[in-house]
Amino acid sequence: MATTIKCAFCEGEGKDPFDLLSPLSNCLVCNGSGITTVMEPFRKCIYCGGKGINPLGARVPCIVCGGKGKYHCDCITRCKQCYGTGKSGDGLPCSLCGGKGLSK
Ligand SMILES: [Zn+2]
Ligand SMILES: [Zn+2]
Ligand SMILES: [Zn+2]
Repeated sequence: MATTIKCAFCEGEGKDPFDLLSPLSNCLVCNGSGITTVMEPFRKCIYCGGKGINPLGARVPCIVCGGKGKYHCDCITRCKQCYGTGKSGDGLPCSLCGGKGLSK
């Protein structure tokens, strides 16, 4: 089942938070609606801290959650490789869990 959530990338504003194209451009995650959907069960994205913004500094949506700040995950075990941080040594998403910090 899909649940409607506030778009994390634009914080529900519906506008591109970084004004990449123009100050009037719509948020590319929610297409300007300020809301988006995620399948249940979902968790807060550990990789971006739920902000929906790529933590590597690029002004683009988080590559793990797609900018939603949450992702569908029914995993329960902490990832053995990244110890639940979702990150590998160089800051990229963990190769084992894909940045979710969890595994089956
Ligand atoms: Zn948005
Ligand atoms: Zn994320
Ligand atoms: Zn991992």
